[in-house]
Amino acid sequence: MVDPNLLSSAERLLWDHGFRKAEHIDLEGLASAKGARVVFRHLDGCAARLVTDGATAIISVEARDTEGRQRFSLGHELAHWINDVRTAAFKCASTDIGPQNAEAADTEAAANLYASQLLLPDYMVDPWMRGKKMTLNVAKDLHDEFRSSMTASAIKLAKRSETSTCVMCHDMRGRRWFVRSKRWPHDVYPKKELHHESAAFDIVFKATTRMSTPRKEPAGHWLTGPPDIFRSSAEVQSMKLPDGSALTMLMLIPR
Ligand SMILES: [Zn+2]
Repeated sequence: MVDPNLLSSAERLLWDHGFRKAEHIDLEGLASAKGARVVFRHLDGCAARLVTDGATAIISVEARDTEGRQRFSLGHELAHWINDVRTAAFKCASTDIGPQNAEAADTEAAANLYASQLLLPDYMVDPWMRGKKMTLNVAKDLHDEFRSSMTASAIKLAKRSETSTCVMCHDMRGRRWFVRSKRWPHDVYPKKELHHESAAFDIVFKATTRMSTPRKEPAGHWLTGPPDIFRSSAEVQSMKLPDGSALTMLMLIPR
């Protein structure tokens, strides 16, 4: 049972619109109800923007992005429209908009956190993910059902998981970012460099495009931390993101 009084403000908005299942979540409808019109077009130098006269708003979303990315951008601009100063205009770069940047105490991070709850509300995702393994295959199912990006879906699983799970992104220059579950040991960190035997290494350096199958690997290939981490193993799965970087989901196997 969901207690509406315990929901976050973004979830409460969905709940009050009667959204109970993934397919109900109509972000353009929400925007319209809040006095904002949504247009998809090519934007120069940003992923989304919002212009307003104070009473109504026009939200523009980059037409060439993937559907999941467009929905996240729309959720992000809706957050600005609903929560931030109504007289401001926002022009948000693709580096500002993203589920991996939701922890900092600034306006952009707050908008990302709000967008994550609009696209993947905890009250729908928690029952959906119960009993499932933390792999990219499961993130793909979540992505298909909620039409969220693969990155947002994987991060949501890690954040809501009761296992020790980490989602990370690497490119040719090394690790870009990582997000850990609540249970993740506080003194264990993903390495900056990819191990040459990992699927993620092939994805980044050899233009491999397929998603790897989940496999058991020595945790030391991926992680640094106290000595016993080198006796542990992890279940790991990687895939290529549209920008060529590798997204990896890693679950520590309890010893
Ligand atoms: Zn923004």
